[in-house]
Amino acid sequence: MTYRVNPRQLFTLVSICVLLLVSGCDKQPATSSAESKIAEPAQQPRTLSLAMSWPTNYPIFSDSVKRLSDSVKIMSRGELIIEIDSANKHKAPLGVLDMVKAGQYDMGHTASYYWKGKDVSTMFFTTMPFGMTAPEQYAWFYQGGGMELMQKVYARHGVYSYPGGNTGVQMGGWFRKEIKTPDDLKGLKMRVPDFAGEVLAELGVIVTNIAPGELYTALDRGTIDALERVGPSLDLNMGFHKIAPYYYTGWHEPAAELQFLVNKEVFDSLPPHLQEILTTAMQSAAIDMYSRSYHVSAVNLAKIRTDFPDIKIKTFSPEILSEFKAANQRLLDETAAKDPQFKEIRDSQQTYLEIVRQWTMISDFAYLKSVENSP
Ligand code: CA
Repeated sequence: MTYRVNPRQLFTLVSICVLLLVSGCDKQPATSSAESKIAEPAQQPRTLSLAMSWPTNYPIFSDSVKRLSDSVKIMSRGELIIEIDSANKHKAPLGVLDMVKAGQYDMGHTASYYWKGKDVSTMFFTTMPFGMTAPEQYAWFYQGGGMELMQKVYARHGVYSYPGGNTGVQMGGWFRKEIKTPDDLKGLKMRVPDFAGEVLAELGVIVTNIAPGELYTALDRGTIDALERVGPSLDLNMGFHKIAPYYYTGWHEPAAELQFLVNKEVFDSLPPHLQEILTTAMQSAAIDMYSRSYHVSAVNLAKIRTDFPDIKIKTFSPEILSEFKAANQRLLDETAAKDPQFKEIRDSQQTYLEIVRQWTMISDFAYLKSVENSP
C-alpha cells in the first residue's frame, strides 16, 4: 500500500518546515546541560569516599551502602564512583559527622542521633520515643516537611543529610534480669544511644553509648548490664541472649532511620545529573534496607521461636511505660523551652503525628486487629 500526499497536505508540510526554519528549530532539539553530560563519555570519573559507622560486612546496614555504590556506578556509567571505608579502617565509628564536615571523607553512612551531644536537634531525624512508625516517618520526611528541617539543621554543619535506611520498630533491649517495676531500672548500666537514654537516665539507669562492634564484649565483661541494639534482624547473630536472655519489645525507637551524609561543597560541585543519580540512589538504598530489615527480622523471630526457646520476650508493664512516657514528654518540653530549633522540629513531628496516626489507626491498625481477631 502506498501513501500519497495530496497537494493540500504538501502545502501544510512545507508551511511547517518554513516556520521551523524561521524560528531556528531546524537544529537538534535543545538539551539541558545535565542531559548532554550523560551522553558524553566520562572523561574524569568523580570518586567520593564514604565512611560508614559499621564494621566491614555488617549485615543489612553495610548492604545498603554497597547497593548505593553499585547503583550509582551503573546509573552514572562509571562517572561517579563511591569508595567505602568501614569502621575497621577509619577507626572512628562515632566520628563520621566530623570527618565528613572536615572533608576527610566526602560521604558518611551513620545515624543522626549519634550527634545529639553536638546538636540536640539532629536526633529527631533518626527516631523518637513514642514517635512515628517507619511509614509515618517516611511520609513526614518526603511529604510533611521533614527533609527541609533536616537540611536546615545540617546546614550548620556544612553537610547534607538524607534518609539512609530504616530498621522498623526496634526491640527495647536485652536485659540480664527481668524488669518488673521501675525500681528494677535503678542503677542498671545500659547502652542506649538516643533520646531514650535521657529518658532512662531520668528513671535511674546509668546510660552509655558504645559502638556496635564493641557491644558483646562490653556485655560479657560486665561494663553494661543491658543494651539495646536493633531487633531480631541484627541482634540474634550477636549472641546477646547467652548473657542477657530477657528481650523486651520496643517503645523507644519505633522507626530508626539511618543517615547518608554528604559534604555540602562536594555535593554542590557535582553536575546536576550526578546529584540526581546520587539522591535517587540514596532513596532507593534506604527503602531497600527497610525491606531487608523487615524480612530478616521475621525470619529470625521464627528462628527464636524454634531454636532459642530460652530467650524470654517481654513487654514493659503499663506502669513502666507510663513513667517512660511522662519522662519523655517532660524532657522534650524542657529542651524545647530552651532551644527554638528543637521546638520547631518537635512541633512539626507532633503535629504531623496527630494527623498521620489517625490514618494509621483506621488503616493498618484496624486491618490487623480485625483480621487477627477473626476466627
Ligand atoms: Ca537501637
